[in-house]
Amino acid sequence: MISERLLKTIRHIDNFPKPGVGFKDLTPVFRDPALCRELVNTFAADFKEGVNVVVGIESRGFFFGPSIALELNAAFVPVRKKGKLPYTVHSEAYALEYGHDILEMHTDAILPGETVLIHDDVLATGGTAEAVKKLVEKAGGIVVGFSFIIELAFLNGRNRLDGHKVRTLVTYN
Ligand code: AMP
Repeated sequence: MISERLLKTIRHIDNFPKPGVGFKDLTPVFRDPALCRELVNTFAADFKEGVNVVVGIESRGFFFGPSIALELNAAFVPVRKKGKLPYTVHSEAYALEYGHDILEMHTDAILPGETVLIHDDVLATGGTAEAVKKLVEKAGGIVVGFSFIIELAFLNGRNRLDGHKVRTLVTYN
């Protein structure tokens, strides 16, 4: 099963990028094309019908977001940190452990009524994904689901995405 293969392949780095964080490193997964293909196909099968746009969250949502979009025959839209996008943007501030950050998306990236799958590598507290959902809704998009490779279930991020289809491949409790 894909979950077991991912579990065996994902590397754990303790205390990165700061003490107390157990970082999930996906780079060994990228070394395995068959596993990458299965990962993309699994998400694409889950959201087979009715996705117009896949939104990838900077930066690790850019690894697989474009491939999932291609597989779904959907558009890909990047959400980036403040100041990186050149055209007019929608902005959304979200809380970090200390302070806050701002995410941005081009104002013409999503058309009103388009259906959107939001993708990132890790679901932790859910704060980032929730902010991206607000960005999509500012543009008039309709969020139909979320896909994450990894879920850190002990942080209860899923609760913040209540009412939406949330698909994750590997869960750490
Ligand atoms: P959150 O907003 O708390 O759900 O955090 C999600 C974002 O932080 C994602 O974009 C992840 O890339 C990153 N992230 C959070 N925790 C980890 C972790 N333990 N390992 C790798 N990335 C993480």
